[in-house]
Amino acid sequence: MISKENIIKRFIGYVTIDTESDPTSNTTPSTAKQWDLANKLAEELKAIGMSDVSIDENAYIMATLPSNVSHKTPTIGFIAHFDTSPDFTGANINPQIIEQYNGKDIVLNEAENIILSPDYFEDLHQYKGQTLITTDGTTLLGADDKAGITEIVSAMEYLINHPEIKHGTIKVGFTPDEEIGRGAHKFDVEKFGADWAYTMDGSQIGELEYENFNAAGAVVKIKGKIVHPGYAKGKMINSMYIAQEFINSLPRIETPEHTEDYQGFFHLSSIKGEVEETVLQYIIRDHDFGHFEARKAVMENLTIELNEQYGWDVISIEIKDQYFNMREKIEPVMHIVDIAEEAMKQLHIEPIIKPIRGGTDGSQLSYKGLPCPNIFAGGHNFHGRYEYVPVESMIKATEVICKIAEITSKNQNK
Ligand SMILES: [Zn+2]
Repeated sequence: MISKENIIKRFIGYVTIDTESDPTSNTTPSTAKQWDLANKLAEELKAIGMSDVSIDENAYIMATLPSNVSHKTPTIGFIAHFDTSPDFTGANINPQIIEQYNGKDIVLNEAENIILSPDYFEDLHQYKGQTLITTDGTTLLGADDKAGITEIVSAMEYLINHPEIKHGTIKVGFTPDEEIGRGAHKFDVEKFGADWAYTMDGSQIGELEYENFNAAGAVVKIKGKIVHPGYAKGKMINSMYIAQEFINSLPRIETPEHTEDYQGFFHLSSIKGEVEETVLQYIIRDHDFGHFEARKAVMENLTIELNEQYGWDVISIEIKDQYFNMREKIEPVMHIVDIAEEAMKQLHIEPIIKPIRGGTDGSQLSYKGLPCPNIFAGGHNFHGRYEYVPVESMIKATEVICKIAEITSKNQNK
């Protein structure tokens, strides 16, 4: 059995170290304080008996648990990130432990009347009777993704202490700056040396994900001409009105607030306008690569049409791909998803396999040659004051890691 006390102690030890990342920084890690936890993790991996523990100049941590079987097995990896989201403060986290949750409202902060209620957060219902860890209402919790780190370290410790459980070579990787989209950027896939890996970075118990969006960002610039309004007839061109034409030409219902599941969208995230220039920022998302390309073409064609209509280059567009759907890289090696699913079933966890309406580090890693589906870490309501994690879900995720290791060791063909 995985020790509940150890899981709680380990998790609280991690979340009480502030590791908020910063998108405006150009360094890696983006904030120096991420070193505080990174150095501690490297020491801890050594202390529990992991081999080849390394921490590089960008704070990426890698370690190996050697195989304890004599036959050849695939080398698998488990990955989590130790930074927390800049969306909400991660300083002075004061975790609250609620034993035997009674299914009712949880007062996070009496003074500020901040309440975590199952009337609003319905997922809470399924955790009645369990032990929850919440915030005190003033910070995020950091279960994203320190629950994942806790589970990986605890699983490695368990496997080291239980040599009767057979496993092949296991690699562990902890990254900075996932929350600002850079977790995979400086990840050395070759050095890591795994045939495939799993990020432990999903939400509720059972989640298993291998499909995410294809993603691009577009910047649309519209030029105008400023003339004194009193003498502007036939001369002034107001870029804001042309921007409006562009915006209205895209389908209004293909937007985040009107789409779900596999439906893609155009999302206008910002408008900055004056008569002389208006700049529109869009993100484009679609699971289907063909539809994704078509969306980009729609925007490009629209700029061509508007330029023809106005008779000069009034509008320009720059589209940059951000990440791609990992499905294309996972489907040829679908057994890696099957193994995770099988591990959950053996542990009586119902797998919830669904497409991610976003991206993960695993999608970038998959395109760097390390196929990498995502598994639940157990937390809910990430990036805010209502974040919480049931300890039982962290224990289950730890067991899933051990079980995947065990199942893979029986799989002899590489
Ligand atoms: Zn995360």
